[in-house]
Order: sequence, then structure tokens, then C-alpha cells
Amino acid sequence: MTPDEEAIARAELLMDLRRQNVAGYKVLAALETVPRSLFLAAPHKGLAYADRPAPIECGQTVSQPGLVARMTEALELKPDSRVLEIGTGSGYQTAVLARLCRHVYSVERYRLLSDLARERLTVLKVANVSLMVGDGHEGWEAHAPFDRIIVTAAAPAIPEALVEQLAPDGILVAPVGPDGAVQELLKCRKSIDGLIGERLADVRFVPLIPGIAGRL
Ligand code: SAH
Repeated sequence: MTPDEEAIARAELLMDLRRQNVAGYKVLAALETVPRSLFLAAPHKGLAYADRPAPIECGQTVSQPGLVARMTEALELKPDSRVLEIGTGSGYQTAVLARLCRHVYSVERYRLLSDLARERLTVLKVANVSLMVGDGHEGWEAHAPFDRIIVTAAAPAIPEALVEQLAPDGILVAPVGPDGAVQELLKCRKSIDGLIGERLADVRFVPLIPGIAGRL
């Protein structure tokens, strides 16, 4: 794609997302400033501005832009929010979050993905992000509590450590359900009685896998 073709494809995708009303003005403006093609390997760059998921390294998947926008909107980010993201993947969702909050702490179990995400975020001069290779089931205790938590891989239940590391009145957005089947995207708020959840959509995410990846 030439730079001109890329600019047109980006503008068309954003118009589509606006028409579909997937998110408000601020979230869509943030998506507009993050070139998705930067987060895809050469053979998949052609998919960058389709509203479709795309393959990334280590057999993982970056969500479709419309879903990234919906999940970001559901987080109700404020400029001073501190956000924990589980599943850095390509770093695309991380970059979108970083545009809208104070700081993003993002955990990924593949070192290769975390390293590639770091390079891409550096190219975009995104500085308010900390990346760690680790098991997202454990959250990131050292920086807790978090105002917001987003999980971009599906688990049968929300990991207990994430509930503990969410601040009072904080919001958590996560796909919950079985591997390889339809999962529910949940938006939960932490109250004194625990998490109060609402179902946002049916989704299909790659699984949240225990432990750090042994290879790559
Ligand atoms: N948000 C990402 C999508 C990543 S796909 C993006 O914008 O590209 C889900 C990611 O979760 C994968 O990279 C996968 O390796 C990671 N993951 C799965 N289980 C994990 C765990 N236990 N801890 C941290 N990351 C995990």
C-alpha cells in the first residue's frame, strides 16, 4: 500500500466505525491516531484497515478495530486513569489506551510479542506505557491498584488477582468463557459487594494461558 492508499483506507475504516456508532468521539479519535499497519507483520499489512481480526506473531490475533473501540469505550477512561492490560499482543490496543489515560501497564506471556510491541510503541513515541513479560493471571501487583483493567484473552472465569488489584469503583472489561467457543464480553464494576457485571457482546478471543511461554 502506498502512503496515500493507506491514508484513504484508514479514513474509510474510521467513517465506517463512526456510522456503526461503536464508540464515542474521543475513542474513535484515538484509534485514528494509531496506524494499525505498524502492528502487523508484512504479509498481513493488507488487513490493517479492514474491520477484521488479524494474525500476529506467536499464533495470536489482534482484535478487529470495531471491538478494540467498543472495549476501550466500555472502560470509561479518564485522563488520570491507570490501566492494567492483560495480553499486550501486538501492542495495538495498548497504544489506543495510552492515548486516553495516564499510564498503561501491560502484561504478555510471550517475550517476542512484548519486545515487538515495545519497538512499535517507541516508533509512535508512546511513552506512558510499561510492559512486562509475565502471567496475566497474577496481574501486576507492584503497580496495583488499577482504576481500569482490560483483558484481551478469554478465561473461564475472571482471575482472582485481577479482582483484588482493581481499585474500588474500578471497571474491568474481559471476555469470559471456554476456549474455542463463543465467550461473553463482560463489563464489571467493583463495588463493596464485589464485581457487578453486565454482558456487552458475544466474542471469540484466544485463550488466557497460564504461565510464561517457554519458547519465543
Ligand atoms: N490486545 C492485543 C491482542 C492480543 S491477543 C492486541 O491488540 O494485539 C491475546 C494476547 O494475550 C496474546 O498475545 C497472548 O499471548 C496473551 N496471553 C494469553 N495468556 C496470557 C497470560 N496468561 N498472561 C499474559 N498474556 C497472555
